[in-house]
Parts: sequence; C-alpha cells; structure tokens
Amino acid sequence: MGALNLEQTNVRTGKYWDEEIETLPRFALEALQLQRLKTHLDFAYRNSGYYRASFDAAGVRPEDLRTLDDLRRFPFVHKQIERERQLAQPLLGDMLAVPERDVVFVSASSGSTGVPTLSPFTSSDFDTFQNNEARLFWAAGMRPEDRYVHALNFTLFVGGPDVIGAQKLGALCFWAGTVPSDRLLFIMKEFQATVTWTTPSYAWHLGETARAQGINPASDLALRRIIVAGEPGGSIPATREAIERLWNAQLYDFYGISDIYGACAGMCEVRDGLHLVEDDILLEVLDPATLEPVPDGTPGEMVLTTLTKSARPMIRFRTGDIITADHSTCTCGRTHVRIKVIGRIDDMFIITGVNVFPSDVEFVIRSIPGLTGEFRITVFDEDHLSRYSLEVERGESHLSEATLIERVMHDAKTRLGVRPKEVKILEPNALPRSTHKAKRVVDLRGSGSLT
Ligand SMILES: [Zn+2]
Repeated sequence: MGALNLEQTNVRTGKYWDEEIETLPRFALEALQLQRLKTHLDFAYRNSGYYRASFDAAGVRPEDLRTLDDLRRFPFVHKQIERERQLAQPLLGDMLAVPERDVVFVSASSGSTGVPTLSPFTSSDFDTFQNNEARLFWAAGMRPEDRYVHALNFTLFVGGPDVIGAQKLGALCFWAGTVPSDRLLFIMKEFQATVTWTTPSYAWHLGETARAQGINPASDLALRRIIVAGEPGGSIPATREAIERLWNAQLYDFYGISDIYGACAGMCEVRDGLHLVEDDILLEVLDPATLEPVPDGTPGEMVLTTLTKSARPMIRFRTGDIITADHSTCTCGRTHVRIKVIGRIDDMFIITGVNVFPSDVEFVIRSIPGLTGEFRITVFDEDHLSRYSLEVERGESHLSEATLIERVMHDAKTRLGVRPKEVKILEPNALPRSTHKAKRVVDLRGSGSLT
C-alpha cells in the first residue's frame, strides 16, 4: 500500500490530479471522446445482446458514427429499459457486455418494485471509477494530509466505495458509513476529521445535532470541507452559505448516478458548476419534449453515454435530471464541461402551466432572513387546476407574520412565476427534519402523479 500511495500521490503537488486530461483543449478532448465512443459502440454492439438488437431495430451500426453529432442517430436507454433487461435475463441482464466471471462488483439502486437495479463493474471499470473519484476529491481541495470521514451508506449503494478514491488520493480515511449522528460527531471530534461527505440535509441536521449537544461545529471540530451529493442544496447559494456558516467549512457539490458510477461530476475551487469527467462520460443536454439539443445555459435533460465502462455500457442514458451546461473553460483552467443540476423531472410539478422544481422553492425560502430554511410544499387541485401552498418556519426574526407571508408570496412569484395559494408560518422545528434525503413535496392531487 505504501508503494502504491507513493507512486500515486507524491508526484502531484499542483492543483490538478491529472493536468493533461483535465486541461485538454476542447478540440482535443472531443477528438478523444470520438475515438473512445467509436470503440465503445463497436464493443457494445459485438458483446451485448441488448445493444445489438436495439441498434439493428433502429437501423444504425457503430460505423455510422463519424462525428459526435452522429450519436443522435442511436436509440436512448432509460431506467425502465435497464430494469426490464435485468429481469428478462437474470442476474445482470443482456445489456451486459462481458461474461459474468469478469464482473467484480455490483452496486444497487432501490426501485419501486423492490428489485434493486444492479450496476456491474469489471476490475478495470472499478479502477477508472476510483481514479475519477480521486480526481473529483482533488479538485475539491482534498490532499493526502486530510483526514476524511466517509459518511455515505455502504449497503449496496454505489456511494459506499467512493471512499476508495479518497484513499487512492492518499487521505487518511475513516469508513464511517451511516452511523448514528452521535457516533459520527464523536468520530469527527476525537479524530479531528478535516473532510466529510454526506447529503446537504444531513449536513444541516448533523450541525444542528452538534449544537444541541453543546458542540460548536464551527469551532470545536476541524472540518474544513464538506462534500455533498444526492440533493440540489449544495448548488443553491443560500443553502450552501447557511451550511458553511454553521460548520465554518467550505461546501463542494458532487453529482452521481447509480446507473453508471458514483460521483461523475464535482465542484472545483471556483465552485461555479460541477466539472463532469468528460474523458470518460459524454454529455448531451436535450429538450425533454423535442429531444433536440439545447444551447449552453438553457435547461434540458441530461443524457449520458459511457466511453469506457465495459461491464455494462450505457449508450444515451436519459437520467431524468434537468441541468444547464457550460462548455467554456473554467477559471480553474479545467476544460471539462460544468453542469448545474436544477432538479429531477419526476420532482417537477406543473402549476397553471409553469414548471416548478422543489429546488426553486428552496432557493426562495433559504434566501429570506427570518425563516429557518425548512419548508414543505403541498400540491393540490382546485377548480381543475393545480395549485400549491407552502409551510415555512419562523426563525430568529422581529418581522411580523404578515410581513413574512408577504415576502414569501412575493419572492415565490418572482422566482417561480406563480404565487402560492397560501403560506403558513410555523414555529421553529414544526416541520419534520430529514436525516439523509429530504422529502419536501406532498401531492394531494387525485392521480398522485407528480407530473
Ligand atoms: Zn473549475
């Protein structure tokens, strides 16, 4: 292990984990993507029963790809297909492109039917995954001197092994997982951990728990950086700043997708969007209605294509996440595209023709001084139209209830384009606190559908 770490870390003294790849000029990066994509499509077609049948049905062959734009001739995959193909040919389904004996790891994401969807890795896929994690950790400022507490769930979930990327980087790692809050705070305090990774709502919950126990997270702990993923909060400025103040630490947002890897995009020190590992994953941003590409800055559905993952290639995977992209070179010097995640299509609700994401509501609520930042959205039908109401909590404020209500109404109308039917101001701690993933939307409409 010592020899490996010396080789892996001591050569890196600068700001990049892999300077050549991370700062590759766009034309060279796209040439690399095209070369890898050609090989990858050919590999998928030759080795996966599913892709052979699906390309044949669409009338396309791997050799039809001459430019990156030609990828648009190839069919999409999505979660439902992934699940069906797995059930049709257990254990790993016919999207698999290697013999099962070459698979060394599977992660699982839970599904509504109870059968977990499996994501297989070969040994080489796993190494690439961890090298990507190390790159993202490095960009977020983690260094071999850091003490890192990994506070993500290890049980089947792909976020568990992300810790190996921190080890590869050379940090001293505590594999905590989802231990109870008291225990986690004890570990952080006793071992003076400098970096941790959790969800934004849990970072907030943990900070509040610490305070309740007489621990000041800003001064009694050594935490300098908090990595978050799994919810949009890490990219919502007011949420980020509130957590940073609570902890006296910097927050770095990561994005992961369990159907491909754990984290595949993360913030650099500039923290203006998340750099995607574009040498390994190709991005398309498409209008979800027309499936045509949208320009940088325009929200669209993120569609991802693996470029090297061989156990199960993902060709044009519709993630269901709405993002904006920025292909300009970041001031950090990295050329890989930066994404900003706006929300899940599934979480979006439509109020009198306007698309509303819970993250937009969070943006509004967290920006208003005098509220705790917690909220609950209730969506309901009235006269055959969808409406929404908001419940928020009063924080430390001398403002009257009427003034707070008026401010929420006004800011919601400005940001979302549609006013809430009603705003209720509750006492502090009236709303349930989530531990890991916050559930903030109650849908009372007849169909129960969120879209
Ligand atoms: Zn950057």
